[in-house]
Amino acid sequence: MELIISNLTKTYSNGVRALNAISLTIPQGMFGLLGPNGAGKSTLMRTIATLQDADLGSIMLDGVDVLKDKQAVRERLGYLPQDFGLYPRINAETMLDHIAQMKGIGNKAERKELVEALLNRVNLFKDRKKGLGTFSGGMRQRFGIAQALVGNPSLIIVDEPTAGLDPSERNRFYNLLSEIGENTIVILSTHIVEDVNTLCSNMAIICMGEVLMQGKPKDGLAMVNGKIYQKSIEKTELDEYRKEYHVISTKLISGKLSLRVESDTDLGNGFVPVPADLEDVYFSFISKKVDPITI
Ligand code: ADP
Repeated sequence: MELIISNLTKTYSNGVRALNAISLTIPQGMFGLLGPNGAGKSTLMRTIATLQDADLGSIMLDGVDVLKDKQAVRERLGYLPQDFGLYPRINAETMLDHIAQMKGIGNKAERKELVEALLNRVNLFKDRKKGLGTFSGGMRQRFGIAQALVGNPSLIIVDEPTAGLDPSERNRFYNLLSEIGENTIVILSTHIVEDVNTLCSNMAIICMGEVLMQGKPKDGLAMVNGKIYQKSIEKTELDEYRKEYHVISTKLISGKLSLRVESDTDLGNGFVPVPADLEDVYFSFISKKVDPITI
């Protein structure tokens, strides 16, 4: 199974071109769609999820034309949107039962069994009688996965799922996502590089509606490895360094700035070559597209 996106283009009525001829091939497994805010990730996710139309281009899921045959896609789709609204007073069990009913599971006993299994799977069984409004961020996202899994989807889309989760909640969420079946395409849209690093066997970097890179994380690493240099400087020196070097990222460590610079040649001047990580890959591509100060 494969999702093939070709030349997908979308301009909103205010003139913003959110997708500019996007082409991506998404195989089975976990696929990370990485990009800064405003890159076009949600627009792409909503279009794949059949919730909005594109102006041009096509999306094919195993021979099904996603943009035309929406119902066929919806039957195979699980979707966890970015701002996932919950009815605060309804409890988790009742809500899941309702969702299962809407997804066409008419048999009450079958639904009960499914709802219990899903609640167990996302570790919310003991919280099943609690109102959704009382759930923490992590519990909400785990509930979101449970509702996305109703109906055994072959395509699962999760849009910025770890934003706002604390580290332990994020870990639990990672574990849950990594358990989703191998016969499924899971598209994870995120601006958090660690999400992709931890979970994804394939990835793409998008920015300003364009695909900057697609492949395996290790392919991305191979592109920048041997080109990343690090140096610790004073904050006040940053502008000077930016003028002279291709600074791809900065991190404040104990009050000093740690610079990461990309260069094809050894820099000297106190710069130390360091092994590249996926953040370097990300910032290397993004910084060629937008001014790194704005990232
Ligand atoms: P991301 O999910 O990567 O943050 P989005 O797809 O939400 O990116 O947005 C891409 C661009 O399209 C942004 O410039 C955003 O402001 C714009 N945009 C998103 N939704 C709409 C809309 N409904 N109307 C007009 N512009 C929009």
